[in-house]
Amino acid sequence: VHPTSARRPYPIVVQSDLTSYSDEFITSKFTSRNADVSVTGGQYIVTPSLKEYEFQTARKVSKTGLMMVGWGGNNGSTLSATILANRHNIIWRTKSGVQQPNYIGSLLRASTVRLGSDPSTGKDIHVPVSDVLPMVHPNDLVLGGWDISGSRMDEAMKRAQVLDWDLQRQVVPHMAALGKPLPSVYYPDFIAANQEARADNVIPGKDKLAHLEHIRADIRRFKQTHGLDRVVVFWTANTERYSEIIPGVNDTADALLAAIKASHPEVSPSTLFAVASILEGEPFVNGAPQNTFVPGAIELAELHKSFIGGDDLKSGQTKLKSVFAEFLVNAGIKPLSIASYNHLGNNDGHNLSAEPQFKSKEISKSSVVDDMVNANALLFKPASEEAKAKGGKAAKGEHPDHIVVIKYVPAVGDSKRAIDEYYSEIFCGGRSTINIFNECEDSLLATPLILDLAILTELLTRVKYRNVSAGQAEFAPLYSVLSLLSYMLKAPLVKPGTDVVNSLNRQRNALESFLKACIGLEGSSDLLLETRIW
Ligand code: NAD
Repeated sequence: VHPTSARRPYPIVVQSDLTSYSDEFITSKFTSRNADVSVTGGQYIVTPSLKEYEFQTARKVSKTGLMMVGWGGNNGSTLSATILANRHNIIWRTKSGVQQPNYIGSLLRASTVRLGSDPSTGKDIHVPVSDVLPMVHPNDLVLGGWDISGSRMDEAMKRAQVLDWDLQRQVVPHMAALGKPLPSVYYPDFIAANQEARADNVIPGKDKLAHLEHIRADIRRFKQTHGLDRVVVFWTANTERYSEIIPGVNDTADALLAAIKASHPEVSPSTLFAVASILEGEPFVNGAPQNTFVPGAIELAELHKSFIGGDDLKSGQTKLKSVFAEFLVNAGIKPLSIASYNHLGNNDGHNLSAEPQFKSKEISKSSVVDDMVNANALLFKPASEEAKAKGGKAAKGEHPDHIVVIKYVPAVGDSKRAIDEYYSEIFCGGRSTINIFNECEDSLLATPLILDLAILTELLTRVKYRNVSAGQAEFAPLYSVLSLLSYMLKAPLVKPGTDVVNSLNRQRNALESFLKACIGLEGSSDLLLETRIW
């Protein structure tokens, strides 16, 4: 534990027969309340349902390493430098004064949850989200990773041109001490050709099984060298093109392992890293949009009870869209079109200027309004059974036109511009047009999300559950795909066959409710009944 992160003891005590504490665990009883609904002849038959669960959270926070793939990129170098600035309490001067390091933008460390209210005053009591359960402090993460670019981490930070010069100047010795990223696998076919000039730090050869073993050995060595309990492997490397899903190649776990052995061309570097992490029993999170988690990778994670999460950081435009589109639809206003433009000038933008990589981003950004639209059949006519059977676009039912454009404009560097037009139908044929212009440093939005994802992932590896209603005797780990990470992800990966929730509010609510359930508290209710009755 670094001196700057020395923490108070875990601060919450729940006094109830639903919650019990031992030195090792916090154990809670939780009732999941839902309603079973059947629709017959236009009637909804609703039966409230209850299921009893227990959660058990190991109190000891793992000593955690964060190994980033693409460590020398803008996100990787910015994350490292800002953790070091926080850890060493480096303050720096900007043209507007003295700046302290902080974790603004992190849901865990800069936002709060309502725990309840003080009965004497009736006032709400809020606590930082990171106080609800024992969690890793970002300052304590042990940093490492791979990059196809062999620049030392201080040089990578300079190249990124994200942080103020006075901070860079002071953090340089700490960054230099991190050394250079480990060599990585480079399959030129998966990222834009314009990245080739960076690729001077690659694992030699073309044998994908040897590459897999190399990465596995890197993870093991990192864990051992730093005496870690847990390593979260995080893809923050360039966006790759989509992998083709080919039966017998990547559709099952066995096929995928055989395809790696045969060095099949459709196995991407990101899938190779995911497989390496799964086989090492360490969680893997994909911060970029490509389909790293081919069906075979998901099945492999299930078989090994390893944890995976993805896809693509939800940092700016899409985050706002997952709030704004929901606001319109829930207000009874009908979005007819959503047109989104971006331009950016960092290396990510350069890579995305190639068509196959742009395509991955376009897909990732496109489905974000689907669940809100599907939830409102008053505004959007659902597809007929006939249209569904036919497939194609009509099978989705009525839907707003939704377009995403991304252009590379080197001059603006990391400071991304996003322009969104929401064009909607309002009362009795009226029209509303709302334009949003958004500008900020992309990597400063993304970095806190990477931290939140890594820290939540580590926490979720320590939470076990028991389905009491189903008679489950032993506590078991959560399901492999960590969909509770959805708040930070643009195209959330969920359990196959279950619905994706894109709504930011619902995603936050789910996370908050889950954290509270683990300490035996009900999820957030805004009913506040006592303020509405005599
Ligand atoms: P970047 O281009 O600055 O960094 C990517 C790094 O990955 C580079 O250093 C590159 O050399 C390295 N790399 C490429 N292929 C590699 C491989 N096979 N193995 C190891 N390293 C490899 O990009 P960035 O701005 O840091 O963004 C990183 C990723 O995060 C991108 O895919 C981007 O689309 C995604 N993302 C970023 C944001 C954001 O707000 N910054 C939001 C959502 C998603």
